[in-house]
Amino acid sequence: MVGQQRQPIPRDPSDPVPAIALFRRLSCQALLVAVVVFLASGLGILTRPEKQLAAFWLTNALLLGLFARRPALASPAGWAAAALGYVAADLLTGTSLPTTVRLTAANLAGVLAGYLVFRHIREEDLRLQHPLSMLWVLAVSATAAVGASLVGSLTSHAMMRMGFLTASGFWFSAELVSYVAVLPVVLLAPAPGQALRELRDGLDRARQRPLLLMPLVALALTILLGVAIGGPGAIAFPVPALLWCALAYRLFTTAVITALLCMWTLIAIATGLIDLQLQETSVQPVISLRMGMALLAVAPLTVASVNAMRNRLLATLNHTADHDALTSALNRRAFLRRGGDLMAHAHRHGQPVAAMMLDIDHFKSVNDRYGHAAGDTVLVTFAQRMRSHLREDGLFGRLGGEEFAVLLPGVDAVSAIAVAERLRELAGEPMPLDDGRVLDITVSVGVSAPSSPESADALERLLSQADVALYRAKATGRNRVVA
Ligand code: GH3
Ligand code: MG
Ligand code: MG
Repeated sequence: MVGQQRQPIPRDPSDPVPAIALFRRLSCQALLVAVVVFLASGLGILTRPEKQLAAFWLTNALLLGLFARRPALASPAGWAAAALGYVAADLLTGTSLPTTVRLTAANLAGVLAGYLVFRHIREEDLRLQHPLSMLWVLAVSATAAVGASLVGSLTSHAMMRMGFLTASGFWFSAELVSYVAVLPVVLLAPAPGQALRELRDGLDRARQRPLLLMPLVALALTILLGVAIGGPGAIAFPVPALLWCALAYRLFTTAVITALLCMWTLIAIATGLIDLQLQETSVQPVISLRMGMALLAVAPLTVASVNAMRNRLLATLNHTADHDALTSALNRRAFLRRGGDLMAHAHRHGQPVAAMMLDIDHFKSVNDRYGHAAGDTVLVTFAQRMRSHLREDGLFGRLGGEEFAVLLPGVDAVSAIAVAERLRELAGEPMPLDDGRVLDITVSVGVSAPSSPESADALERLLSQADVALYRAKATGRNRVVA
């Protein structure tokens, strides 16, 4: 409030002093970073063939994604914790100290390069919300991969017994594929609670409609075909099934499937499960394969982003087509359509359905005295109040000007009249206008509540009975409920 002095809030003696609280928070964040880096690096080291780099190294992408989503983690303490995690994982698995330092420097250089670019990317692109978002992720991945490969190959090409350029290509391609595959998963990952809910929903949907699993089955079959036939084309066998997954599943699910496929393919090739039947012993085919996999992973995620955007637009379009723009109540057409479905459902379950017609009293005079804008505000507030009192399974629609309708499944006459009375009271509470003035309005309500379940096609009859009751409410003095 203007001119009012703020009183300092006395500190609760049980609260830690701010410096200690900050220190605690930083320590927790740093610990989280160190543990993530340590565990992911341990996993990567398991896929590391004798004296080579890991077949699939996901730590750097995981760390970069984490820093991009939670910039607070990228504090000096966070970077130091990450370094500690890398070093600990390598030293504990028997890597020599000089090699550990070289690998850690390369890993951190890559993450830093990617992080610097990430900071300039829009939030929507971080969440892969646009058709071109995946190209941004590719650009970040390429930058991070260049950072890691420069530092990594400068310091260790002699150790890898390769020329500088070959070592750079080797390093770059390994980093690129892991960033492109893993970053989208980290960027899109839902909170654990939501992830569990989505998983449960997904399993329920799959149980009800097993055909939803077809894209996954096709993916598994084409992967097996790749193992059986082998050769350089094998890596492309799963592409159509992968695109099918991108069209059928959510963006995050597609990201997980793509990452798993990339990991599987690289590990299967490294372990000889997929035999590419390449004659050469040089590293060039490996570089080519990894870059191929990285670029291949862009396609399903781009398709999934476009699909997600299209679904969002369709949802907006459907909402706009079904709802009144002013009050957000169902419009007449949608109310009658959904009302028909509700009647059929209630009929199947032997439930009665109650209908109400509500018409604001003397609304024309509100417009005449306070202006059309004030009338609009009254309509919006009125609709909000009615909706706030109705159950989720009820239907609320605006049938015309200041005339609304309600359908309540499983509600008998006594309850319907009680609900209608409450709605009438809510409408009668003082109604503030935008300019600060307050209006009093009233509403008349007609109720039709047959005691036994109606036939499935009785909507029209039910509504016209409620309309007759409304007419009587108006005729007998307004501001009342008539059944
Ligand atoms: P009654 O008590 O008999 O229902 O009288 P009434 O004045 O409420 O009924 P009437 O049907 O005569 O007038 C309804 C008015 O509602 C007329 C119209 O100008 C106004 N109206 C209809 N739609 C809108 C709208 O979207 N915004 C505003 N501000 N007014 C609207
Ligand atoms: Mg009216
Ligand atoms: Mg009217």
